[in-house]
Amino acid sequence: MPTLTDISTVRDILSRHGFSFSKALGQNFLINPSVCPRMAAACQPEPDGDFAVLEIGPGLGVLTKELAQVATRVISIELDTRLLPILQETLAEYPNVTIVSGDVMKLDLAEVIRTHAGNLPLVVCANLPYYITSPILMHLLESRLPFHSITVLVQKEAAQRLCATPGTRECGAISLAVSYFAKPEILFSVSRGSFMPAPNVDSSVIRLQLRKEPPCKLSDETLFFRLIRAAFQQRRKTLSNSLCNAGYAKTLVRDILVKVGLSPSSRAEELTLEQFADLTNEFYQVQKRTDS
Ligand code: SAM
Repeated sequence: MPTLTDISTVRDILSRHGFSFSKALGQNFLINPSVCPRMAAACQPEPDGDFAVLEIGPGLGVLTKELAQVATRVISIELDTRLLPILQETLAEYPNVTIVSGDVMKLDLAEVIRTHAGNLPLVVCANLPYYITSPILMHLLESRLPFHSITVLVQKEAAQRLCATPGTRECGAISLAVSYFAKPEILFSVSRGSFMPAPNVDSSVIRLQLRKEPPCKLSDETLFFRLIRAAFQQRRKTLSNSLCNAGYAKTLVRDILVKVGLSPSSRAEELTLEQFADLTNEFYQVQKRTDS
């Protein structure tokens, strides 16, 4: 069976199938032989236990093969139908792999998992297409599917943002969202030369361990995420100005900030998850009083 990190093997497969890379679909395939085994090892929920893996974008199947050797079942979702005959060839030896043709953002993931993973402990492991990294991660986190962890290869800057601790300078709306659902960590770096074609940036593998319980008590989760988005809409502005720009009255914003112990001149990036939770719960109370 061909080694999919061998450049001449990859070129042979691509030319036999008349395949050309699609930049629009974020097709940078891994050719560094050490990356996929490390990712496969990192995603295992327990050593030697049965589990299923959901992979997004198998490409030629380089990571899929490694996953098939450690997991009981692998479910791989691929959008590019031109890759299906190639995957049939490269994964022929692995009966525990199911390729699902479609867009991860549009498929009914709960149904896909019910059909192919049954009740096995479930993880996600993928080299994500760069153009859609954050939307895919938010889609997976918000789906509330029972993932133990999500181990993904993403651009280095995205990894830093996704894993930033709330309350620090690097933090953005996405860091808070990730921290609400999971405990994130950067596992290791992957240089740009590890891909074919090579992108212009380096990458990192990150792992998000999904929380069993939310880290803070919220009266209204939708309001929590709406406030976070509004607060980070214009990062340079004060929290007070950002919330006013989002349509809240100035005096109301000031009163609420003071009530939860925040200065009107504080900035979104300085707030912890708990402080955003306090803010949400106070806005919720005021809204409830106004509505009744
Ligand atoms: N796993 C392979 C590897 O590591 O070499 C390929 C990774 S490549 C960065 C991203 C893959 O995701 C491509 O195969 C691409 O066709 C696929 N893809 C892009 N958008 C997708 C989507 N919305 N749903 C499912 N797959 C997608």
